[in-house]
Amino acid sequence: MKADIVVIGAGIVGSTIAREISRYDLKIIAVEKNSDVAFGSPTKANTGIIHAGYDDKPGTVKAQLCSKGNVLWHKIAPEVGAPFKETGSLVVALKEEDMSLLKELKERGEKNSVPDLEIIEDRKELLRREPNLNKEAIAALHAPTAAITSPYELAIAMAENAMKNEVKILLDTQVTGIMVKTGEIRSVQTSKGRIKTNYVVNAAGLRADEVSAMAGINRFTIHPRKGEYYVFEKELNGFVRQILFPVPASISKGIVVTPTVDGNILFGPNAHDVEDKNDSATTSKGLDEVFSGALRLVPKLAEKKNMIIANFCGLRPEPDTNDFILESYDEVRGFINAAGMKSPGLTAAPAVAQTVTDLLMKSGLELREKGSFSALRKPIDRSVRRFDIERANWLIARDPAWGHVVCRCEHVTEGEILEAIRRGATTLDGIKFRTRAGMGRCQGGFCIPHQIKILARELGIPFQEVTKQGGNSRLLPYEAKELLLRAELDDSEEAEKGYPRS
Ligand SMILES: Cc1cc2nc3c(=O)[nH]c(=O)nc-3n(C[C@H](O)[C@H](O)[C@H](O)COP(=O)(O)OP(=O)(O)OC[C@H]3O[C@@H](n4cnc5c(N)ncnc54)[C@H](O)[C@@H]3O)c2cc1C
Repeated sequence: MKADIVVIGAGIVGSTIAREISRYDLKIIAVEKNSDVAFGSPTKANTGIIHAGYDDKPGTVKAQLCSKGNVLWHKIAPEVGAPFKETGSLVVALKEEDMSLLKELKERGEKNSVPDLEIIEDRKELLRREPNLNKEAIAALHAPTAAITSPYELAIAMAENAMKNEVKILLDTQVTGIMVKTGEIRSVQTSKGRIKTNYVVNAAGLRADEVSAMAGINRFTIHPRKGEYYVFEKELNGFVRQILFPVPASISKGIVVTPTVDGNILFGPNAHDVEDKNDSATTSKGLDEVFSGALRLVPKLAEKKNMIIANFCGLRPEPDTNDFILESYDEVRGFINAAGMKSPGLTAAPAVAQTVTDLLMKSGLELREKGSFSALRKPIDRSVRRFDIERANWLIARDPAWGHVVCRCEHVTEGEILEAIRRGATTLDGIKFRTRAGMGRCQGGFCIPHQIKILARELGIPFQEVTKQGGNSRLLPYEAKELLLRAELDDSEEAEKGYPRS
């Protein structure tokens, strides 16, 4: 294969870069080791906040690109039909000592060009805006441009739009080497063959240090930092209206309580460094920490603990430089790092993509805009679950699958699932991230068998080959007959040992 550019990684950063450079007349291949886009830990498991941009120290790359990214997402998210809601945020001071930090954040924000920041020092006003906020709150920094999104849906939308603009995405394909000769990129070796190219963009998230080393750039390391979460069911929709932050902790923005674009309430994350880049397990100790952190902002959540429906954990790709690494290199021409994309990497992604485009140009790549570029993408139709009766009836008349509700908690129809498969979902998580099937109160207890049936039928594979997220994450390891046979074998072995028959 041949490409003008290879983008390594199809998380939010790689997908957004691929979509940005698809404006130009270039052959672009994105290579992703997972079975789908947005399956990497930080992109699929984060808070989904499009930050206003007051957290990061002015002068850092993060600070420059966060506020710029916020402005860009306000335009791009509607273009690509991704969920996006400008809720605003409050950083809440609970004691007098917090006030100096609140003022510092406001000053930082102003230096970072964040508009309309305001410190509200009237408790009555705070409680009018957030009736369930801790009554001891004394002040809060209000940032009206902070917004929420669904991070995986946003990444999928960017990848779909990139594909519409002729980007090829190779899934289940791992980059294993990068060939550099006389200071120039020559090719990328993958688990499925070699791609000849002179330009490579490294957006490999947690593995970006390893990929950079493949090109001979060994200047930084990335370690995983865990963040755990709880999710409340939608019945609490409206309990919290905007993103609530505590004053920031030393290594993170602290445990946040936020509404989600789908009407749930999410709280977390904590922040703990771990060794293993695959360790995304939640722990009871971590979740207890998250719960008590959330109660400091919204004490009334203590009465709602029985409304928690899920927990999860994401891994931040923390670089030892403590800033985004957005660089090209004289010694390896054509190699660009978009690495160290810790928080606010989701927010900054479109600004990162623009910077990468500039770096490609400075590295000698000729960029000619193509007339066929389309910035627009249609999302999967959600009229049925929104009870848009006229449109729902029209859809059902065309195909009765739109009238067959598969996920009862989220009201997801077979029509939506078929459309998700048509757009590239080949796994249960692929369907879940595109439609929300299995994300409700019962967490898929009812609909997963139905989804397995639909996937097996549409992909033409046996039930046993349907996976949760690709690889060997199969859900049905053997047929019932085989299971019984195995049980009988176990029994006969036990009988031989003289155990009573089970
Ligand atoms: C707990 C937590 C909370 C966060 N909250 C926010 C927030 O609210 N707002 C915000 O702005 N940011 C937030 N972030 C940060 C944000 O999630 C990340 O900055 C962003 O997701 C990074 O995306 P990425 O595309 O760089 O990485 P990834 O999502 O990791 O994507 C990289 C991709 O590269 C692929 N890859 C790796 N190696 C190879 C290889 N050799 N070959 C092929 N493919 C490869 C991986 O499979 C992966 O899919 C948070 C992060 C965490 C973990």
